[in-house]
Amino acid sequence: MTRQPLRLAILEAERALAAAGVDSPRTDAELLAAHLLGVERTKLMMVPLVDPPMVDALRDLVHRRAARVPLQHLTGQAALAGVSLEVGPGVFIPRPETELLLAWGLGLLDSVARPTVVDLCTGSGALGLAAAHSRPDATVHVVEKDPAALAWARRNAQRCSEAGDTAVTLHAGDVADPALLADLEGRVDLVLCNPPYVPEGSPVPPEVRHHDPHAAVFGGRDGLDVVRHVVTCAARLLRPGGGVAIEHDDTHGGSVPALLTARRVLTDVQEHPDLAGRPRFATARRAAP
Ligand code: GLN
Repeated sequence: MTRQPLRLAILEAERALAAAGVDSPRTDAELLAAHLLGVERTKLMMVPLVDPPMVDALRDLVHRRAARVPLQHLTGQAALAGVSLEVGPGVFIPRPETELLLAWGLGLLDSVARPTVVDLCTGSGALGLAAAHSRPDATVHVVEKDPAALAWARRNAQRCSEAGDTAVTLHAGDVADPALLADLEGRVDLVLCNPPYVPEGSPVPPEVRHHDPHAAVFGGRDGLDVVRHVVTCAARLLRPGGGVAIEHDDTHGGSVPALLTARRVLTDVQEHPDLAGRPRFATARRAAP
């Protein structure tokens, strides 16, 4: 068994991924190798040589990544705001841009002791679990209607509480249900939501089209089917002064703020860009009584 320099195995992987048109071939090659070796990506240079079975295993993962299986499905891991999450088939992979929405929400909570937070359309649990991680004094409720996604959220909630975070409460529920979280009406400090919002028929990368659940990505003809329910639900749940943040498509920079503005009880509507400068989420506060 001749051992091979890891450097060469990664170079081969990078080339195969680049040839397949994968966006970040070097990063993906390194992350797959790090995953197989059980080391941090930054520690790869401390592994000079690898055994043939490891090279074969890397080739196998590269082959699947080249077929556009998402990196996160191959490693089984994703992260949001430093909280690591298990993901796989049946659940939406959290995206880094959603951290901006979380940061806005956490900023709003700076002046609130023991806040109540609701994450609607939680998927993997990402937003709610990241909020609970940052604010151990918060009471966090996460809502998901899809049973497969909720199972991932449950697993992640278990992991986070084992890691010492405050437990969150999971709810199988639909934002379209006017009685959703009825006990919390008028009492919630922060509603966070990354709903399905891509207009049906919009082009999305193969990783998204074939591996994220359709219902977690697409929001009907104009992409706003679920957003409309989220606005109604947030207006009902928020306490006066509480805030809502809703992620949206980059074509929704006018329509989502307009949906929020149309609610008499909501005020201070703002639109926020993502790191690429595209319209990405809208926020509002519940007016004082
Ligand atoms: N922005 C997402 C994407 O990359 C879609 C997210 C969503 O629908 N919540 O596909």
